Amino acid sequence: MLSPEAGWAEAAGALGAVVRAAVDAGVRYEVATAERLLFEKDDTCTGVLTTDGRTFEAQHVLLCSGAHTPWLLAESAPEKPSLHAGDRMTAAAVLMCLFKVPPGENGLDKFEGAPIMVHPFGGFPAECIPPGETSTRGLAKCTHKFPYTRKTYHEPSRQEISVPLLSRPERMTWTMDLPDALTANSASVRDMFFGDSVKGMVPEAYRLCWDSSTPDEDWIISPHPASKNLYIAAGGSFHAFKFLPIIGKYVVQMLDGKLSEELARKWAWDRDTTPIVTPYTPRGDLKDIPGYLD
Ligand SMILES: Cc1cc2nc3c(=O)[nH]c(=O)nc-3n(C[C@H](O)[C@H](O)[C@H](O)COP(=O)(O)OP(=O)(O)OC[C@H]3O[C@@H](n4cnc5c(N)ncnc54)[C@H](O)[C@@H]3O)c2cc1C
Repeated sequence: MLSPEAGWAEAAGALGAVVRAAVDAGVRYEVATAERLLFEKDDTCTGVLTTDGRTFEAQHVLLCSGAHTPWLLAESAPEKPSLHAGDRMTAAAVLMCLFKVPPGENGLDKFEGAPIMVHPFGGFPAECIPPGETSTRGLAKCTHKFPYTRKTYHEPSRQEISVPLLSRPERMTWTMDLPDALTANSASVRDMFFGDSVKGMVPEAYRLCWDSSTPDEDWIISPHPASKNLYIAAGGSFHAFKFLPIIGKYVVQMLDGKLSEELARKWAWDRDTTPIVTPYTPRGDLKDIPGYLD
């Protein structure tokens, strides 16, 4: 089925524009890694401590840390299960591959006016975004919709938490350093979509793309009930980017206590959840893939 109204936008450019607009509006933009949240004795959140030793204090601490959120909460208060994410969200990664498409009538010409291709269900869910005009010039981006967790024992809080590999940040970007048993899936995505019709598509780079998944695939946009001044905006479930133009409005409404009752209930930290199963439901663990090494 072709949806002529569907489209796509490059995430990096969109995010850069939002950051520039925020800075132009007076936001102080600092780059640092949050080591842990800071709390007073009564669990009021007062700010963050960064890995370079700086402290940022705030009256509202809004955690938008995506896949890292469960680990960061556990690191911040290992002895306080009421602050932990538990089953509310799970970090998971899907494999993407950038395929270099050669020029010519059997290569790039075939993508002239090509739509996004989505094969959402069945045994091999996948999607492909055709070569773009700017940063993805000549590159087709293929995703295997099979999210893997990376479950790790968090000693201080004595629980298993899925978390991206923090010690090797290069693994968070484009790489060729992934096992064959994993990258073979990208070749299968390419072959499923293009067969012999496009020739010579070779992998340029792979990426494990992380997100935090919630059981009902709705966001968590909520005050944290166990800590005053702490707010959460996470739970993208692999489909939150498209809301970039509007999601801020709802996060601000949440901070101001002005979310409608219906949305506040839907996106609450604690809610009655009906789990759903979709292609973006985490269903494997990276450590079970032959050849996968941290
Ligand atoms: C392969 C792939 C394809 C996707 N395709 C689509 C799509 O087509 N359409 C769509 O709508 N969505 C898509 N998504 C989903 C979308 O990208 C996510 O849902 C969305 O980005 C989640 O937003 P977030 O703010 O919760 O987390 P993120 O965007 O992951 O942002 C979290 C940020 O917090 C930072 N961070 C984490 N921990 C710390 C720390 N301790 N200190 C400082 N910073 C920290 C991270 O570096 C990151 O920048 C896709 C996701 C993937 C992985």
